[in-house]
Amino acid sequence: MPTYDYRCKACAHEMELFQSMSERPKRKCPSCGKSQLERLIGGGGGLIFKGSGYYQTDYRSTSYTEGAKADEAAKKKSDEAAKPAKSEGKSEKSDTKD
Ligand SMILES: [Zn+2]
Repeated sequence: MPTYDYRCKACAHEMELFQSMSERPKRKCPSCGKSQLERLIGGGGGLIFKGSGYYQTDYRSTSYTEGAKADEAAKKKSDEAAKPAKSEGKSEKSDTKD
């Protein structure tokens, strides 16, 4: 299990937590009781999700993102294959001409 560093924005309390990847980030500060905890990623330095709430809730391993991408690509492909060649007319004509 990875260790996560947390820091409270309200009282600057810092701590480490063992959490599984799938667990939600903790919000409540055990020191001051406010929901101002911020999970620090990569031990200090870079707050990846700063200014981007998206990553804060839904950052997962890169393998997940890549998998999703591949999935999307596969979907597109099969989508194209499933479609009858309806758009043959315009785009393909100019394509073959060249
Ligand atoms: Zn606090």
